[in-house]
Amino acid sequence: MISLGIESTAHTFGIGIVNEKKQVLANVRNSYSNPQGGMIPNELAEHHISVFKQVFKEALARASIKAKDIDIISFSQGPGIGHALRVGAVFARSLALLLDKPLIGVNHCIAHLEIGKMLTEAKDPVLLYVSGANTQIIAFESGKYRIFGETLDMGLGNFLDTFAREAGIGFPGGPVIDKLAQKGSNYIELPYVIKGMDISLGGILTNLKSKLNKYPLEDLCYSLQETVFSMILEATERAMAHTGKNELLLGGGVACNRRLQEMARIMAEERNAKCYVLPNEFNVDNGAMIAWLGLVNYKKGNQLTIEESKIKPYWRTDEV
Ligand code: AMP
Ligand code: MG
Repeated sequence: MISLGIESTAHTFGIGIVNEKKQVLANVRNSYSNPQGGMIPNELAEHHISVFKQVFKEALARASIKAKDIDIISFSQGPGIGHALRVGAVFARSLALLLDKPLIGVNHCIAHLEIGKMLTEAKDPVLLYVSGANTQIIAFESGKYRIFGETLDMGLGNFLDTFAREAGIGFPGGPVIDKLAQKGSNYIELPYVIKGMDISLGGILTNLKSKLNKYPLEDLCYSLQETVFSMILEATERAMAHTGKNELLLGGGVACNRRLQEMARIMAEERNAKCYVLPNEFNVDNGAMIAWLGLVNYKKGNQLTIEESKIKPYWRTDEV
């Protein structure tokens, strides 16, 4: 059985194709970027519409299949930016109708967790999901997916991107901050904001803005990474202690960050747990994870009618 998955929750438009044997036959994407910084919703939609044909054709070519060979159509139903989600949903519905195939809507956050289980030996990990809009510590516990900690305001990636915009280094800012941080070495004190199991980033951002042009940018990038990664890993460690789970999985675009990976590995090692880091193409938003979770959902009988396939921009992990 072959599943085609469409990802379009934010700046990435992706199409992945996977089969039941856990093989990723194609994972093609094209992401919106903006030198001025930030995502403009209608520009996202225009971007996704303009790249659909090329991404779709390339995915079929890489998988060496024809459209008629696809058995199910999966798409990110939420959470995400409405303008972007709607484009993916329209393509998914159209393909399902045209090819007369089942339509499956999947939760994007859970797709990050399930692709990690598919690609690694992890059986029941705690997922630290750190992307643009989302920052959640997710695990499956007592029969459902639960959020053990999360950001109270913005996602870690949005925090990095907003700081990058203020510093004039473009969008997406995470990778640039990652590089600059490697050149910094002086730790500049920043607020450390963790409330119970949750973190908050808005105050740190304001603090950082006031420090721009007063300190070397490399040192600010270094200090912000050390601070916010420590905060989120502190909450993650407590989630692992509470659930008694001994596998840690990283997911989301920010999981591409070398320093975050290093800190996560150290934390896991110190508690005799395993840390799983995926290749970057599966950390960032991608169609393969949507295709895979779609296939898992289909096997459980979770098929949607067109009427049921409305996008869910605010769909929470713990509502699934
Ligand atoms: P996603 O929403 O999962 O596609 O992730 C996008 C986010 O990942 C953006 O906010 C990027 O700035 C961030 N990102 C990508 N690469 C890195 C990196 N190496 N370090 C930190 N953040 C990154
Ligand atoms: Mg994501």
